[in-house]
Amino acid sequence: MICAIKTYRLQHRLDEPFGFSQWSYDTRNGLLIEVVDSEGVSGWGECYGPATVTQSAVDTFYAPLLLGWDPLKNEAAWQHMWRASLDFAMKGPMMGAISGLDMALLDLKGKLLKVSVSELMGGRVRDEIRGYATSMYFKQQPEDELLGTLLGEARESRERGFSALKIKVGKNMNFDRRLIEAMREAFPETQLMADSNHAYDLPEAIEIGRVLEAHKFAWFEEPLSPTHVHQMRQLADKIDVPIATGECEQTRFGFRALLDGGGVQIAQPDLAHCGGPTEALKIRALASAQGINTIPHCWGTQLNLASAVHFLATTYVEPGRAEPAEPMIETDLTPNPMRDDMFETGLKIADGRLAVPTTPGLGVQPDRAMLEAFCVQKTEKLNDEDSLPDVDRRERISDKKVH
Ligand code: MG
Repeated sequence: MICAIKTYRLQHRLDEPFGFSQWSYDTRNGLLIEVVDSEGVSGWGECYGPATVTQSAVDTFYAPLLLGWDPLKNEAAWQHMWRASLDFAMKGPMMGAISGLDMALLDLKGKLLKVSVSELMGGRVRDEIRGYATSMYFKQQPEDELLGTLLGEARESRERGFSALKIKVGKNMNFDRRLIEAMREAFPETQLMADSNHAYDLPEAIEIGRVLEAHKFAWFEEPLSPTHVHQMRQLADKIDVPIATGECEQTRFGFRALLDGGGVQIAQPDLAHCGGPTEALKIRALASAQGINTIPHCWGTQLNLASAVHFLATTYVEPGRAEPAEPMIETDLTPNPMRDDMFETGLKIADGRLAVPTTPGLGVQPDRAMLEAFCVQKTEKLNDEDSLPDVDRRERISDKKVH
């Protein structure tokens, strides 16, 4: 029985801001969820999206619905949460809150049944996942200098063993073109991808898409606004580089509309945002029925990364063949101590490949002392205070300074 649901809002000020086509950030934020059952076993999840909003949604809206719930009934829990907010929250940060709870329930279920999340998802068809490096974000530098900085970061990623690299584009048309050309010249044999974070209108996307095509990029990510899905088909008719998108989209219903529009070749749900890992499985099935592969967008801490690793460990690549293509996991290499220093057990990365954990649940475990160090606000909802182990009697809400 679920007897406590806790949230930890995390914050970390960056030494150096980083940017992409839309914004520049000087602070990392995050929301972790801990779901505790009556035996004192904890499942952990993570929400993508505005942490103050997802924290409130979890604590004040969804947690009261799940207290007393059987943690093995995660599918029913999802439907219960979905129906409770269907009339006003089919998409948005409340779906991010459901996603984090779904992830935590899956971690808890795996721990209770003593199986890994990939076993819950149907069983592993591979034991490690090839990573692709996400780095090369924009810095506050003159463009000539920035170009050198980004190429240097790419070189570092290659030296760490990553055989595929994703660049950011969408700064401006001239710089984007220079960066694409410089990357291909510097890395003639490396698999390269480009992500505009929906920076372009259709004519611009066609123009940059043709540059990417000429330089043999593997995909063009979020070339267009997620509000203009009908333009994906128009773009795909003009360029030969595959279009990847979906990190802003949520639920199987949202993805159905996105994929039905045509043009998209790679679906990219974020497991901490799209409705959670169990909803991502439904999105994957839907995409598969259209011959489209699903490669999750992945950002945040070890929890979201581990969820995506388990997901890809169970992925069947479309179309099947004796020597299928290998799915890749997005591996964010930008500095993030909430990912790299906050877990007592994390994912093992060697030579650009991520080992799939085989221990029960997600296989990654936050370090409580480090979690407290990054936590700026925590909340707790209890089903029955008398049934909780002493270790779980904590302040309901506390505020601390930013770490
Ligand atoms: Mg992206």
